Formats: sequence, structure tokens, C-alpha cells
Amino acid sequence: MQRLFKFFKKSDKSNTKKFESELDQLELENDGLRQSLASERSRNVDLHTNLENEREAQIGYRLQAIQENENFEKLRMIQKHRNDKNSALEKDIEANKKHIEAFKLLASNCGTVFDPEILKKFLKDEESQREKYRLRTMKARKMLQKAQEKKEGDQKAWSLCEVCAFQFADTEKQAPRVLACGHTICQSCIIKLAAQTPGKIKCPFDRVSTHWSDREIDICLQKNLTLLHL
Ligand SMILES: [Zn+2]
Ligand SMILES: [Zn+2]
Repeated sequence: MQRLFKFFKKSDKSNTKKFESELDQLELENDGLRQSLASERSRNVDLHTNLENEREAQIGYRLQAIQENENFEKLRMIQKHRNDKNSALEKDIEANKKHIEAFKLLASNCGTVFDPEILKKFLKDEESQREKYRLRTMKARKMLQKAQEKKEGDQKAWSLCEVCAFQFADTEKQAPRVLACGHTICQSCIIKLAAQTPGKIKCPFDRVSTHWSDREIDICLQKNLTLLHL
């Protein structure tokens, strides 16, 4: 009995050792697996980041394509606008040709018979032509102003001279000056307008005259201080 017990004790000891070494082996394997899982995970994160970057790049390309399309559309509009303008100019040239014919006729008639009716008609034509040009110039100014506003974004319409579309400023050239009719335009535009009608200025918006002299500019035309201080 004593011997049998000894035998069991011995075999138990050797079994424990065997299990312990197996356990060590398994733990080692487990560590290896854990490490490869971790590296797999980090690779996954990298792939995910790459995917995100790729997606963002794609969005960027798409936006670029949209922008390019818009630019193309703008260019097309500009081209169309130019074509329209060209055909308007061609019509103008036609009208001017007729005008010259009328003027020639008038000149030849003046030499022989003076006809006040022809002269009156001629003057009327001239006036209507001038009015047409004035309206067209105003339209172009409005367009220029709109374009300027778009470009400068936050600049308000009332801070720009409606003739040249430059911003008013407290300088000699860009000072806002009030005409007798109440319209405000910049000083450099006033000087240009004054050159057309000496001693007075005709408002480009309503044709109202304002008395004006170069030396008394501060008396004739008040500065619009409200506009300057807004
Ligand atoms: Zn006016
Ligand atoms: Zn101006």
C-alpha cells in the first residue's frame, strides 16, 4: 500500500509538470495571437484612414468638376452677351448710316432751299438718338455696379458712385458730392461731366442742371458726409 501510494504521488507529480509545460505553451501561443490581432487592428485603422482620405479626395474632384462646369457656363454667358452686344452695335451702325444720309440730304437742301421741317425732324432724331445712348449708358453703369458689388461682396450699393462704380472715399477724387437734384456722385465723375457742359453739371440720372464752378466746389456741391461716415 505504501508503495502504491508512492507510485501515484510520483506519477501525479510528472503529470502536473506536463500540464504546466502545456499551459506555458498555450499562453505563449495566446500571446502570439493577441499580438497579431493587435497588428491586424492597427492595419484596419490605417485602411480606414486611407479610405476616408480617398473619399475626401473624390469629393474634392467632384467639387472641382462642378466649379469647372460653372466656369464654362459663365464663359458661355459672357460669349452670348458679347454676341448680343455685337449685334446691337451692328444695328447702331446701320442707324448711324441712315443718319449720315439724312444729314447729307439736309446739307444739300440747306445750300438751295431751307426747309425748317427737315431741320426739325433732324433735330428730333438727334435728340431721340441721344436719349437712347443715355439710357444705354445708364444700363451699362448699373451692370458694372452690380458686377462690382458681386466682386466686393459686402460692399453696399450706396457706398459706390453710381456712375463709375468706385467706392466713395474722403479723398479729392472719390469724395461724394450732392447735386441740386439730390443725387450723389463722386468728384472725379463731376469733373468729367462738367467738361461736357461748362458752368453747370447735368445729372446723369434725371438731367437736372446744377450750377458749378471749379473754384467754389465746396460751396456749389456739398460733400455727402453721411455716406462717408457709414
Ligand atoms: Zn439727379
Ligand atoms: Zn464716380
